[in-house]
Amino acid sequence: MKTILLHGPSGCGKDTQADLLVENFGFEKIVTGEMFRTMYDMADIDGIKAHETWGKGIFVPDDITYRMLPKWLARFNPIKDWIFVSVVRSQGQIALFDNLLKESNRTLDAFVHFKLSEEAAIERMALRWVCPNCNQIYHEKYKKERVQGFCDACGMKLTQREDDKPERIKSRLEEYNRTIQPILDEYRSRGILIEIDASPSIEEIQKEIITKLNL
Ligand SMILES: [Zn+2]
Repeated sequence: MKTILLHGPSGCGKDTQADLLVENFGFEKIVTGEMFRTMYDMADIDGIKAHETWGKGIFVPDDITYRMLPKWLARFNPIKDWIFVSVVRSQGQIALFDNLLKESNRTLDAFVHFKLSEEAAIERMALRWVCPNCNQIYHEKYKKERVQGFCDACGMKLTQREDDKPERIKSRLEEYNRTIQPILDEYRSRGILIEIDASPSIEEIQKEIITKLNL
């Protein structure tokens, strides 16, 4: 049974790629967003604590996330291949994740990192418009609205998210590249780092992943 961790900056397409691996190869997909929502709905004590930070758009502290993960993992088939998304975001989480896997009798086979250039990140996100009323997302290149500047579904004037403006994308990507470096160094030294160029099409990226993971 394989254990894989996908990671990359916002807009790199890692979730789409994880979904394709689930569809094509029957992986169990383990993401913290779903865990936080579900365990909050279940009124789990840590789920409620996580919601206090996560609800404000701040990352949930490591200790809470890693107290929740062992409980969350109990719902996944232990003999299937597992794919985690973005559960190691800081150097401190490397050891926490190692322990978590050890308790599940697993070891990490690959850390798959999606590399996104500044130009590609800006193209993906700066061309994105959102409906403030129904949250539908449009893209100048991939999903254009019928009447320019207005939502197809409800007719509201489209706006751009603060975070999707080029300057913000640049500074976010720089911050990301700075924090990810020690994590990449660690997994590279273990010989399990796989780097994927996140700029080609969804199909091409999936092909590259399949080849590099020997699936
Ligand atoms: Zn709308």
